[in-house]
Amino acid sequence: MAAGSAIQIPSRLPLLLTHESVLLPGSTMRTSVDSPRNMQLVRSRLLKGTSLRSTIIGVIPNTSDPTSDCDDLPNLHRIGTAALAVQVVGSNWPKPHYTLLVTGLCRFQILQLLKEKPYPVAEVQQLDRLEQFTNGHKSEEELGELSEQFYKYAVQLVEMLDMSVPAVAKLRRLLDNLPREALPDILTSIIRTTNQEKLQILDAVRLEERFKMTIPLLVRQIEGLKLLQKTRKSKQDDDKRVVAIRPSRRIPHGSITEDEEEEEDHDDVVMLEKKIRTSSMSEQALKVCLKEIKRLKKMPQSMPEYALTRNYLELMIELPWNKSTKDRLEIRAARIVLDNDHYAMEKLKKRVLEYLAVRQLKNNLKGPILCFVGPPGVGKTSVGRSIAKTLGREFHRIALGGVCDQSDIRGHRRTYVGSMPGRIINGLKTVGVNNPVFLLDEVDKLAKSLQGDPAAALLEVLDPEQNHSFTDHYLNVAFDLSQVLFIATANTTATIPPALLDRMEVIQVPGYTQEEKIEIAHRHLIPKQLELHGLTPQQIQIPQGTTLGIITRYTREAGVRALDRKLGAICRAVAVKVAEGQHKEAKPDRAEVGEGEDCKEHVTEDAKPESISDTADLALPPEMPILIDFHALKDILGPPMYDMEVSERLNQPGVAIGLAWTPLGGEIMFVEASRMDGEGQLTLTGQLGDVMKESAHLAISWLRSNAKRYQLTNASGSFDLLDNTDIHLHFPAGAVTKDGPSAGVTIVTCLASLFSGRLVCSDVAMTGEITLRGLVLPVGGIKDKVLAAHRAGLKRIIIPQRNEKDLEEIAAHVRQELSFVLAARLEEVLNAAFDGGFAARASLEHLNSKL
Ligand code: ADP
Repeated sequence: MAAGSAIQIPSRLPLLLTHESVLLPGSTMRTSVDSPRNMQLVRSRLLKGTSLRSTIIGVIPNTSDPTSDCDDLPNLHRIGTAALAVQVVGSNWPKPHYTLLVTGLCRFQILQLLKEKPYPVAEVQQLDRLEQFTNGHKSEEELGELSEQFYKYAVQLVEMLDMSVPAVAKLRRLLDNLPREALPDILTSIIRTTNQEKLQILDAVRLEERFKMTIPLLVRQIEGLKLLQKTRKSKQDDDKRVVAIRPSRRIPHGSITEDEEEEEDHDDVVMLEKKIRTSSMSEQALKVCLKEIKRLKKMPQSMPEYALTRNYLELMIELPWNKSTKDRLEIRAARIVLDNDHYAMEKLKKRVLEYLAVRQLKNNLKGPILCFVGPPGVGKTSVGRSIAKTLGREFHRIALGGVCDQSDIRGHRRTYVGSMPGRIINGLKTVGVNNPVFLLDEVDKLAKSLQGDPAAALLEVLDPEQNHSFTDHYLNVAFDLSQVLFIATANTTATIPPALLDRMEVIQVPGYTQEEKIEIAHRHLIPKQLELHGLTPQQIQIPQGTTLGIITRYTREAGVRALDRKLGAICRAVAVKVAEGQHKEAKPDRAEVGEGEDCKEHVTEDAKPESISDTADLALPPEMPILIDFHALKDILGPPMYDMEVSERLNQPGVAIGLAWTPLGGEIMFVEASRMDGEGQLTLTGQLGDVMKESAHLAISWLRSNAKRYQLTNASGSFDLLDNTDIHLHFPAGAVTKDGPSAGVTIVTCLASLFSGRLVCSDVAMTGEITLRGLVLPVGGIKDKVLAAHRAGLKRIIIPQRNEKDLEEIAAHVRQELSFVLAARLEEVLNAAFDGGFAARASLEHLNSKL
């Protein structure tokens, strides 16, 4: 389409009917083709045609073509645009259609419709871009003026556009290069016009008319653009102004909120810093804290580390670096407190008072750590509490049972997620002073694991030479623990790591005798339980006989914890009765009104007010205390758990009672033996340790070697006890592992009973290690063992002679109730264990030798 070039279109054109848009010569348009006629045209003319001529079609605007094939051809606009189909794109979605890209060439008018189906074809007459038109039309001047005017407007319009856009720059160049007559059509298709206006331009076949019609459109566009630019400019100005204003507005505004927040944080941090500076922390700690504060100031609050650092600093401030309670140590007062809080345990109280006295005189705490070792429930913890009370110090208990991670003691490094200080530092934070009494409970139950040995960490804590600069991993600065009074408790020293044990002074706290337990119950436990349950002594009475019943038939322990629990259970039951009684009392009018039921109840109650065993007794008069008798005990606690079974079990040969010591206190232990035909095998059952197995072998060897002397024979009457005989020794309570040499004498006695066929005395218990030569060697835990025998109601106790000194520890009244046999040799043991002694047949031996 060179400038001034003429076009020659075919005289017959297939017609494409468009509805939505108007194609003007010189412009390009994309149009969708989906009506059957148009589709047919595209298929048979454009897709099959091979020549350039076949791609020229006539586009008739403003014609809505019905979608149905059979419909008649609508009225056609008379003037159309001959166009070159530049591109055809087919698609099946959403329905079959083509998209045509067509470029307008020139106007034509339909002379005659040649055919309608399958698509319309018409004989046409070309209306512009013809040789004769370009040359022989209106006077040059008139047109020149018009075209010049048009050109100016066109240039003005284009220049109002953004020239940096390549298409605009190209358009600007085209304005100069294109023939003026082509401009109205091109510009009309570019500027914003309605289809109707475009149709008018299309219909304006005369060039002059076309120019005249287009100029107002151009002017309108220019005005529109001007307006647009004006508003855009003012908007831009506004924008600029807004931008200009906003910073000036936003900054103060923004700074108010954000700065406020920041300032708040800052204030917070400043406050924190102030607190740090005014706190009495050590210089080293202060340095670390100030460094952390510096880091905190630079840190955005959203950082996870911010919270961590803050927590750390808050802990540092909270720790009692220099805060302590004043010790008010007065030994006489301490003695009173200890005596008031605890019955018995004289040895322990004496040692504690000595310890405190030394503290008072020396005025420092350097010295061994006290470690109370004894069965559970004997008052180790509560003595610790009393010590704190006498000193006027804070008390904190740190349970170490099952602790297996050294960071439990020493804290986690702060690099760990969820890191926290150890129990020592935590305890200090809790009590808020640096000189509390820390009770390290159950040091014997510390465990080792991959996470390190907590006992090793405790060493540092407990060593007075080191603990003034104890460094918790979390704090990472030294904290002085030298003012803390540590007391440890344990059930046994056997499992306390030796290094730790070395730092401590062990004070044994043995179990209580029945009498002591009764006293403890009546002086301490019952009043405490009454208070706990809101009862008064006027409401409940527990006679000593009942307490003894609870101790012997419902508990079997060295301490008083189970006793305490049982008393609690009794108080609960009584509390229900009392509450119910009060409830009934609150509505006495019912009885007065004549509800015979209630009256009857009162009468029956009066007959038997002292027991609550009768569950119908609901409304006791308040002034009548509920008496806990054996019936009531049975009602509340159920049938007795432990019966006196000793004599029952000793009614056949081959049973003896030994005494054992466990971390839970002393216990009596039945040793049973039986023999059967066999090959001299010894079977041992009951979870025994090696030492105990050895004791069994020793016992058998000694008996075999002394069989003749004591006339011990196997089933066939032979003095070779193991000839054709198997022996089975059983130590009941097989679930508990037993070890130790102290069962030696019991095994010998038990086997002597078996082979002699005599019964062991039913009230004898014994303990002692044996040797092959028949000596009885001393053993440990005598006090606990004796108490256990006493609890079990045994009367005679055989102990090694060299344990005589241990008897002094036993309360006099217990000693009085028992008879002790101090044995140095096994012969003495056997003599004491059997009624009428266990005589050796020296004469027989003599006789035999004669024979
Ligand atoms: P432990 O620490 O030895 O396991 P506790 O100190 O917890 O035992 O004592 C258990 C309960 O028994 C506490 O209520 C305690 O007051 C009480 N108790 C133990 N021994 C005595 C005693 N000699 N005098 C008074 N109460 C005692």
